Amino acid sequence: MHDTFATHEVFNQSPPFENVNLFTSDRALMDAVDREGGGQAAKHLAAFGRICGSAEAFERQRLANDNPPKLRTFDTKGFRRDTVEFHPAYHECMELSVHEGLHCSAWDHLAKPGAKPIPGANLARSAGTYMAIQMEAGHQCPITMTNAAVPTLLLEPALASQWLPKILSRRYDKSFKPAADKTGVTVGMGMTEKQGGTDVRANSTRAVPAANGGPGAEYLLTGHKWFMSAPMCDAFLVLAQAPGGLSCFLMPRFLPDGNVNGLRFQRLKDKLGNRSNASSEVEFQAAHAWLIGEEGRGVPNIIEMVTCTRLDCAVGSAGLMRLALANAIHHCRNRTVFQRRLVDQPLMSQVLADLALDVETATALSFRLARSFDRASDPNAAAWRRMMTAVTKFWVCKIGPALAYEAMECLGGNGYVEEGIAARLYRELPVNAIWEGSGNVMALDLLRVLQREAETVEIVMDDLAVAAGDEPRLKAQLARVRGILHEPRLLDRRARDLAEALALLAAGTILQAHAPPAVADAFMSTRLSGGPRQTYGQGLDRAQTQAIVDRAFPG
Ligand SMILES: Cc1cc2nc3c(=O)[nH]c(=O)nc-3n(C[C@H](O)[C@H](O)[C@H](O)COP(=O)(O)OP(=O)(O)OC[C@H]3O[C@@H](n4cnc5c(N)ncnc54)[C@H](O)[C@@H]3O)c2cc1C
Repeated sequence: MHDTFATHEVFNQSPPFENVNLFTSDRALMDAVDREGGGQAAKHLAAFGRICGSAEAFERQRLANDNPPKLRTFDTKGFRRDTVEFHPAYHECMELSVHEGLHCSAWDHLAKPGAKPIPGANLARSAGTYMAIQMEAGHQCPITMTNAAVPTLLLEPALASQWLPKILSRRYDKSFKPAADKTGVTVGMGMTEKQGGTDVRANSTRAVPAANGGPGAEYLLTGHKWFMSAPMCDAFLVLAQAPGGLSCFLMPRFLPDGNVNGLRFQRLKDKLGNRSNASSEVEFQAAHAWLIGEEGRGVPNIIEMVTCTRLDCAVGSAGLMRLALANAIHHCRNRTVFQRRLVDQPLMSQVLADLALDVETATALSFRLARSFDRASDPNAAAWRRMMTAVTKFWVCKIGPALAYEAMECLGGNGYVEEGIAARLYRELPVNAIWEGSGNVMALDLLRVLQREAETVEIVMDDLAVAAGDEPRLKAQLARVRGILHEPRLLDRRARDLAEALALLAAGTILQAHAPPAVADAFMSTRLSGGPRQTYGQGLDRAQTQAIVDRAFPG
């Protein structure tokens, strides 16, 4: 790009990263969608990929994050408002994602009584999510939660029949009014309290039956939530202590008589990233809510929702990682240092290829997991979903921030400056590891499967053994995993070790079977063998780095 100032000419700066089709430029994504059962959606995804990677989309991202939401607690006369105002760019992102059905398309079959799930629906939705989060990450929070709320809502059929038609609508409605008067709704979640987020059994919010109580009945909730994101959702699934123990409720913003429910927002969090999304601190002042399932079944009833959000955390982190990588490759192709393009410098080419291997891994794991959500009736898929959700979320979400940092460094000083997307990605990525079950919590969930669900473990391990075949590095990794599994006394200390080893084994089997040899070989020689490494760009001196980089983002 050339420009002339009075003192100098501007050149050797990479052009903006924009007008990139986030589907057709992403070979690993296209392969994963095809392989895992979403091929029928490819054409549609290509159209959505163009929208998500357009210059307008990246400008929306900038605007929505530079103009974070504002809490309006009171109006000018002192009456309570408890509303949050978002920049129009945020609403535009919501409109696009809702129109695409990212908040509901996995459940489209519920519109027709008795209809079976649509094959590949979760896969296609995940591919859309992977791209929409690159368009703008914060707005994906209510989109994800709405999709994830459905299986929990289904546990209370009367509530489900009331809310599902509005959830399944593709018409985003930003207005603050009763759900019955809106074209579409979104649903959030309130579990975390000050004294404990992971340990939700410590919740102190009280639920008192308005009359007789019981499944589907009305209760009054008094207490607080320390984190409740997307407060302009139309309803929330919340946990509270009912007489029979911790229970799950649906709490709408408006009451059936049209009055505003007793949710009083105190503050919005001032967050490291995820700035376009509002995350509130809220008090429930005798707020009305309806019980889902039995009293005392709060955790098992909301866990379905949490499992779905964990898939989105992994898919979303994989998407953001890919954007960080593509942006870095784009810059290095357009920047010359010492008469040679950065992308052609041996050290940089190793760094970029190394980053690409982690993106391949994250994409492979996330979409294999998405497939398991589509095949719930297949015992192998069900076992994969149960055991590998924690493993996938653990590994993908943990690796994301480190990758975003290295990708930022590829842009030099430009990467560190807020105007570009690299810095925003760096601040965004940690949240996916922290919420919906932080790293240790994922490792502990894996441990729970090992201790309580021997059959699940056996199915997954058998599948991995078959997939590893005779490939020596995969066999060695399989032995390593089995070695940890067979030391039950040490398991509680080695759960993270095991989660990482399983993630790499699973990814290795997928890449070995489906990725180009340049990718699979480099993955195995760096992730499953070779010397110890703590930073990117090592161990790839013999790898076909250019082929790996060109696949990651074609020039
Ligand atoms: C931006 C943002 C938005 C959020 N939005 C929502 C929302 O909409 N709704 C909602 O309900 N929550 C929300 N949360 C809260 C989030 O889910 C919690 O912060 C998270 O579950 C962790 O809970 P905590 O903060 O209480 O930390 P703690 O539970 O105290 O955990 C602290 C650390 O200890 C680790 N740990 C916990 N137990 C163990 C153990 N047994 N052994 C070893 N380590 C352990 C955890 O992994 C974590 O690293 C949000 C959080 C953020 C950052």
